[in-house]
Amino acid sequence: MTPKSNSQARATTNIGDNLNLRTVFTRPGEATDLPKFSMADDMLLPETAYQIVHDEAMLDGNARLNLATFVSTWMDDEAKKLYSETVDKNMIDKDEYPQTAAIEDRCWKILADLWHNPNVDNAIGTSTIGSSEACMLGGLALKRHWQARRKAEGKSTETPNLVLSTAVQVCWEKFCNYFEVEPRWVPISPDHMVLDGHELEKYVDENTIGVVAIMGQTYTGMYEPVKQIAAKLDQIQADTGLDVKIHVDGASGAMIAPFCQPDLEWDFRVDRVVSINTSGHKFGLVYPGVGWIVWRDTEALPESMVFHCSYLGGDMPTLALNFSRPGAQVLLQYYQFLRLGREGYRQVQQGSLDVAQWLSSEIAKIDAFELVSKGDTIPVFAWRLKSGHTDNWNLYDLSDRLRMKGWLVPAYPMADDLADLTVQRIVVRAGLSHDLARALIADIQTEVDFLDRLEGPIPAEGERSHFHH
Ligand SMILES: *Cc1c(COP(=O)(O)O)cnc(C)c1O
Repeated sequence: MTPKSNSQARATTNIGDNLNLRTVFTRPGEATDLPKFSMADDMLLPETAYQIVHDEAMLDGNARLNLATFVSTWMDDEAKKLYSETVDKNMIDKDEYPQTAAIEDRCWKILADLWHNPNVDNAIGTSTIGSSEACMLGGLALKRHWQARRKAEGKSTETPNLVLSTAVQVCWEKFCNYFEVEPRWVPISPDHMVLDGHELEKYVDENTIGVVAIMGQTYTGMYEPVKQIAAKLDQIQADTGLDVKIHVDGASGAMIAPFCQPDLEWDFRVDRVVSINTSGHKFGLVYPGVGWIVWRDTEALPESMVFHCSYLGGDMPTLALNFSRPGAQVLLQYYQFLRLGREGYRQVQQGSLDVAQWLSSEIAKIDAFELVSKGDTIPVFAWRLKSGHTDNWNLYDLSDRLRMKGWLVPAYPMADDLADLTVQRIVVRAGLSHDLARALIADIQTEVDFLDRLEGPIPAEGERSHFHH
C-alpha cells in the first residue's frame, strides 16, 4: 500500500466513524441493540435518542383512532403553541408564577359558576392532576367531616363507609383502599343500571361519610340521577336523622351537562351536593393531565386539609396530593375557556353528541347488536351482542378485527353483578368527525360480515382485551 492510499483509507474511516455524519438509522442505537432495562454506559447523539423514542411511540398507533379513551387527543395549533411555550412551568411554584396561580384560581371559579354555585366567593377549589386526585380529595373531605362530627358526638371513627355504585371508576376503589374507607357497593342490575336511590336506606348508616353520584358512568356513559338520589337521602334524613352529603363525580358529564343539558339539575343546585370534580383533560378539552374539584363552600372543605402559604402576599390555601405538577395544562384550560366560551363548548360537545348518536343509531341497525346506551348523556355509548346471534364470535373478536384497521374499540365485561354481560363502547371526542365515523361504521359492518361468515368458533385466547378507563 502506498502512503497516499493509506491516508485516503484513514480519511474514509474517519468520516465513517463520525457519528454526526452517519445516516440516522446506521448509528449505534438504531443499527444495534441497546440495553432496555439497564442504563447504557455511553451516550447517544440527541438525534439518535429522539429517533429511537419517537419510533417506539409510533408503534402505539394513532391516538385519534383510540375510541377507548375519554382523554383529549386534539387541540388547535394555538393551544399547542401555548403548550410548548409553557411546558417549563411547575404549578406548585405559586410564588414564582403568580399569574399561573391566579389563572388556576379563575378556572375553578369559572367552573363553580358553571355548576351553579350559589356563592362563588365562598366556594373553594383547586386544579389536580386529573379526576382521580380530585376524587381522593373529595372523598377525604367527606371522611374528615364525618370524623369531626363523630368526635364531637363522642362516637367511634373506626369504621367509615362510602356508598357508591359497583359501576364507579377505579379511582373510587383506590380511594376506599388507600384511605381505609369501607366501600358500600350498590349493585347495578338490568332494572337499575345506575345508582338511582333504589334501596339506598339499606346502605346508608351513621358511619356513612357520603354518597358518590357519577355523571357519566365509565361503562355506558349513563348519568346517575343526582336529584333523585338527593330526594332519597332527604327521605332517609326525615326517617333517621342521618344527614348524608353527595359528591358528584362529573369526570366527563360536568363538562357536558352545563352546555348540552342545561335544565338537568345535578350540580350545586341540588342542596346535598357538597363537591364536584371533573377532568379538564376529558371534555374540558385539554391534553392530559389536569382535573378540577370545587367544594360548595369553605365549610364543606375541612380546614385541616388546607395548607396555607403566604406566597402571593395574601393567604394562599393549597391542597393537593401532588406537590410538583405541570402548570401548562392549567393555562391550556384557561385558553379553552377564553377561546370557546359557553357557545364554543356547546358547539363542540353537541358536535360530539351528534356523532355519538349517529353512530349508535347505525350500530342499532346492525342485526348482531343491541344498544345498552345511546350516547345522549355524554357522547359515549355501549352495545352488546344480541343473545342468540352467534356462538362463533364475541365482541372481543370484533375488537381485535377493528384493531387491525387501526381502530381501538374496547370490549369489556360490565361491572360486578352484571359481569356476565360483555359490552363494547365508543367514546366520541372532538376530532371524531362525521367522515371518520362513517368510515368506522363501514369497517364495523365489514368485520361483522366477516365474523358472521365463520363456520366455527374462534378459539379463545385467554385475556385478549383490557378495559381502558
Ligand atoms: C375518567 C374518570 C375518572 C378518573 O379520571 P382521571 O382524570 O383519568 O384521573 C373518575 N371518574 C370517572 C367517572 C371517570 O370517567
